[in-house]
Formats: sequence, C-alpha cells, structure tokens
Amino acid sequence: MPRTPPSSAATDAAMSEGCVVALDVGGTEVKGALVDRSAYPVHAESRPTNRQAGVEAVVSAVEAFGAQLVERAGGDRVRALGLVVPGLVDSRNGVARYSVTLGWRDLPLRDRFSASLGLPVALDHDVRAGALAEGLLGAARGCGDFLFLPVGTGIAGGMVLDGRPYAGSGTAAGEIGHTPVSPAGERCTCGQYGCLEVYASAAGVVRRYVTASGTSVNGPDDVIQRASSGDEVAARVWGEAVDALATALASYTLLLDPDLVVIGGGMAGAGQALFGPLGDRLRAGLAWRPPPRLVPAELGAQAGCLGAAVVAWRLAGAPLEGDSDAR
Ligand SMILES: [Zn+2]
Repeated sequence: MPRTPPSSAATDAAMSEGCVVALDVGGTEVKGALVDRSAYPVHAESRPTNRQAGVEAVVSAVEAFGAQLVERAGGDRVRALGLVVPGLVDSRNGVARYSVTLGWRDLPLRDRFSASLGLPVALDHDVRAGALAEGLLGAARGCGDFLFLPVGTGIAGGMVLDGRPYAGSGTAAGEIGHTPVSPAGERCTCGQYGCLEVYASAAGVVRRYVTASGTSVNGPDDVIQRASSGDEVAARVWGEAVDALATALASYTLLLDPDLVVIGGGMAGAGQALFGPLGDRLRAGLAWRPPPRLVPAELGAQAGCLGAAVVAWRLAGAPLEGDSDAR
C-alpha cells in the first residue's frame, strides 16, 4: 500500500465516521477496499476478473465482492460504494456505456449495485477517478490543471481542467492513446493507423522490438535495458516510443496548458530512462513556451480504487479533507 498508515488513534477516529467500499474493475483483476474518512484503505484485496466467463458472470462476481466488503465492514458502517470501470462511462446516469476489454455495452451498473447492496453508489471512469485521486492525495496535490497519463498495456489520459476531471461531450475525453502521432504509421487495435499506443504503450514497445529483432523479451523494461546496453534495435524502438509520447504531449500542452503531467502505469517505473529523454524531447517540441513538469504517479495501482473512494465519500455527503471541489 503506497499510503502511509495514520496512527491507530487517527484510524479509530476516522472509522467512527464509517467507511466507503471502493471497487476498481480492471481487465485482469478487480481491486476492492474499505476506505476511511482519512482516505486510508483500512482493508484492501484483489481478485481475478475472469473476463472469459462473460459479462454477466463478471458483474455478478463484482457485486458479490462488494457485498462481502460491506459485510466485512459491519454493514451499517458503510456510507456508500464507489465503483470505477474502464471504457466509456456515463457517470451522470450511472451507465457503463462500452468497454472493449470487458465486452459490455450500456450496463446500468449504478442502479443495479445500489438495488442489490442497498447503498448509494457512484459509478465513474477508472482513469478519471485515478486522476481525481492523484490530484487530491498523490503527485498532483494542489494542482488544478494536469494530465494523469497511465502508460501500461494501453495508454489513457485523465484530464483535470480547472480542478475537475473532464469527461467531454460523450464521456470519451482523454483517449490520448489513440491520437495519431504518425498518420501513415502502423495499424492500431482500434482500426486507425499510427496511434500513440502503437508506439509507446508497454505492449507496443515489446511487440515492435520482438518484430524488429526476432528476439523475445521480458517486458518493456528489458527493451529499455537493452537500449542502454548498446542494442541498436532496442534503442530505435525505445527512441520512437519516447518521440511518440513527446509528440502527443506537445499537442496536449499547446491546447490545454497543463501545469503537470503525472505519468503512471508500469512504464513510470522506467524512471530516468523515460523522464530524462521525454523531458528533453518535449522541451524541444515546444519552441516558445516552457514544458509542463513531468512527474511519476504516487498512488501506483491504487489510484483507481482511491478515486472510487473519493467519489463515494462525495456521494455520502462527507467529502474527504481537502476535497474542496466536491459537487
Ligand atoms: Zn488506436
């Protein structure tokens, strides 16, 4: 758990106000937590998503997980439940519109979970919720304009504009992974060509290295290691990944003028091998203005779950300390 536990007295005091259940449904695992009023996860666990079992089986299993967390907390101590999922999410109407990863369309998850668990339920988007958590509890504390950019198997963006996560007109804002960085480039899983994700996601870096070299590798870190050890193919693939990220971030910066870019996901672990050249290339791509600061995310894999807790506490009418923008 990346967060420092509060003193037991503080936890007792926070738990006297009850807790919320937070659930973060991902493609491979579902993370669940009981989060107190100090934003500390007093209990956290994860389970496999088993998405091959089908949509109804996945949703039923998440519902059962939520019910068990409620029971563990002692039932009436639970104030609300926050549920975050990937894809297109209409948080206003509580509907999971579409997810390629989980294979669902138009699921009214908020009302379903609220009816079965007997709790107020907030449904939100996993990356926007992660951005909310990084802004309140993590690397972007005190920053009103930033991009939360998890770079992992895919690339998504949680845009925070003027202190609020921005969903766009059709809840599809932030799909920076599918912005074109090389219009005549390689085909993406989305059907377009030359998307950022093709070049700079963890999966993209590995796939492009394996294709170019004929050598198998153990993840993107292995490619980065080879690049720094003189492997020319690895250096080219990694250089193109950094260039693609810099191109996309230059466009974002010129349009939206962020103060900060918070890079999360597995790739953030690359450290200086990523942040050094990316900062240089972003600066070079912005002739007349300074680049935003680039920082690693602080909440790691817990960002989505903590974001679910933030929206649940808002719904409970008791926003977390410092959450001045609760609506
Ligand atoms: Zn794409």
